[in-house]
Amino acid sequence: MVSDGTFIVLMGPPGGGKGTQARMLKARLGLSHLSTGEMLREAGRSGTKLGLEAKKLIDDGKLVSDEISIALISERLDEPCVSNGFILDGFPRTVSQAESLENMLADKGVVLNVVIQIQVPDEIIVERIIGRFSCSKCGACYHDKFLTTKVSGVCDVCGSTEFSRRVDDNENTVKARLKIYRDKTTPVLPFYEKKGLLLCVDGTRSIDEIMRKVEKILGV
Ligand code: AMP
Repeated sequence: MVSDGTFIVLMGPPGGGKGTQARMLKARLGLSHLSTGEMLREAGRSGTKLGLEAKKLIDDGKLVSDEISIALISERLDEPCVSNGFILDGFPRTVSQAESLENMLADKGVVLNVVIQIQVPDEIIVERIIGRFSCSKCGACYHDKFLTTKVSGVCDVCGSTEFSRRVDDNENTVKARLKIYRDKTTPVLPFYEKKGLLLCVDGTRSIDEIMRKVEKILGV
């Protein structure tokens, strides 16, 4: 892989809007969206031993081991389409993951363009997470209050009437996830700050305003 694409890391608390912005950037710039959370949920649905173990940790609001999450990302980074660029969503979540990522990218000759931190205070996170749901068929994401479907109960994108909520999107689990974010993930921010890669956006703004700010950062 050669480093001629756009390589972005999106960081921020659970419910901070990383997934939403990553999906919009993917559509806008044709980059690969690499979400370790999504990869792990998929492994859980497939029912493999690893997937079921990961599901238990996710449902309890805990992190999956560095070993597993690094292995998942490493596999995806080897895919040819990723050479056009990627948006990493939910990885790295620990300093050890950030160090491994640095080594993996160096081996491939890839240089990160930017690490964007979406900043959202804890008070707002709980309401955001508890209200979110997605279309069971196409995965389009909605929120009870902030992003409703145009026609009640019908997906705007594919017309399906079936929706689901993540098991880990409940108040107790959110608090555990926020604590882990503070303890394990915020130390990754100075790691990138020292490299001059870290830029912040105000994640309390509307989805479109955040997107415009991200586009400005990327110069697109
Ligand atoms: P997300 O979809 O990014 O909110 O991730 C959902 C859950 O998947 C997290 O709460 C963790 O349990 C697990 N997970 C996702 N990414 C990682 C990672 N990089 N390291 C460890 N666990 C992860």
